[in-house]
Amino acid sequence: MADLRRKVTILGATGSIGVSTLDVISRNESAFNVFALTANSNVEKMLEQCLATQPRFAVMRNDESAAQLRQLLKLSEASATEVLSGEAGLNHVASHADVDDVVAAIVGGAGLKPTMAAVEAGKKILLANKESLVMSGRLFMEAVAKHDATLLPVDSEHNAIFQCLANGASAHACGVRKIMLTGSGGPFLRRTVESFVDVTPAEACAHPNWSMGQKISVDSATMMNKGLELIEAKWLFDVSPDQIEFVVHPQSVVHSMVEYDDGAVVAQLGQPDMRTPIAHTLAWPERIDSGVPALDFMAMSKLEFEAADLERFPCLSLARRAAEGPQSDSIALNAANEIAVQAFLDELIGFADIPIVNKTVLDDTADAEPATIDEVLIIDASARKSALRLIEQIECDRAGPKRRQDA
Ligand code: NAD
Ligand code: MG
Repeated sequence: MADLRRKVTILGATGSIGVSTLDVISRNESAFNVFALTANSNVEKMLEQCLATQPRFAVMRNDESAAQLRQLLKLSEASATEVLSGEAGLNHVASHADVDDVVAAIVGGAGLKPTMAAVEAGKKILLANKESLVMSGRLFMEAVAKHDATLLPVDSEHNAIFQCLANGASAHACGVRKIMLTGSGGPFLRRTVESFVDVTPAEACAHPNWSMGQKISVDSATMMNKGLELIEAKWLFDVSPDQIEFVVHPQSVVHSMVEYDDGAVVAQLGQPDMRTPIAHTLAWPERIDSGVPALDFMAMSKLEFEAADLERFPCLSLARRAAEGPQSDSIALNAANEIAVQAFLDELIGFADIPIVNKTVLDDTADAEPATIDEVLIIDASARKSALRLIEQIECDRAGPKRRQDA
């Protein structure tokens, strides 16, 4: 009998979104089948996932981890999974003729090319990798239309907005006045700005409501995440940045809201658990079990809403500026931020340096509207270089006086 299950490729399977996706699929095995899994370098986790789901392909970022995985799968004698590596491997499983759905859950700019490969193959794309859309904006959306791909937002706010827009109708057709992008405010909502210099990577990664990968956790702490989401929303829903408002909502129960011309406001509510938006996009336009319990309104204390503090979280204004500017601004801001966050996690710069690096690189980037993804990647590479140079300079400036003191 023919296998009618939808075949799913998960780009970034070993990460937070990847693991949640596998959990939802495991609850709905009669409807979905894992076709391919990909990872950066975590061979052990990939082995475990391959043995559990028996995908046709597994892709590792480099040849060395691919060889390790191949060897371990051979030893286990329990898998027929073919192991591939690198960009070619990612593109192969993102665009393979047998694939129906591609979950784009690689973190950062590294997700752009494989996600575009899925778009160009006309797949249904479940987009978690917001950075790819931030970087390529118009080119990405034009490719979706040209190749008749289906783009569904996994990011919880955008998934909420999508649900508030009556199943996929565009914001224009619906008479949308405003989109309210909610955010918890991250772990430092109430922390004084003076103490931001002392923030450690562990503190920045300890999000009060959501459990996520390190990069997006730091982005939530600087609120750059909300900024990237503003740019993401602009492209996904074809609205101007001034129609998008940040609303701080510490409880993370309302995942975003849409205000209509007639004064109605539609909100989507739920537990802060990414399995809900993942299940929604996997099954759309139907609904499936996600494993997430419903909200208990009687046990809920209160829901609070407040304005975002643009002084303490300057990344919000930088992102709004980039959203209003040429594509090169979004590319530069995203690239600088990725480099700055990694340098912070590696304890090379402080938490308060992240917005400084982001702003300096944004200020120094020449205006451009790239016509191809290769042009996007040239601007991206140049911004990453500038950010690295700046970080070296920050390190030197800090080490200088310290060395003199130590001497
Ligand atoms: P994560 O760090 O937990 O996982 C990232 C995945 O990408 C891993 O499987 C890793 O192996 C892979 N990867 C990393 N670098 C790679 C590279 N250079 N080449 C190939 N693969 C690579 O991240 P996450 O929290 O799952 O987030 C993934 C994406 O989803 C991000 O873009 C994030 O902004 C977005 N997102 C995440 C959440 C969440 O709750 N975690 C919510 C909304 C959006
Ligand atoms: Mg989000």
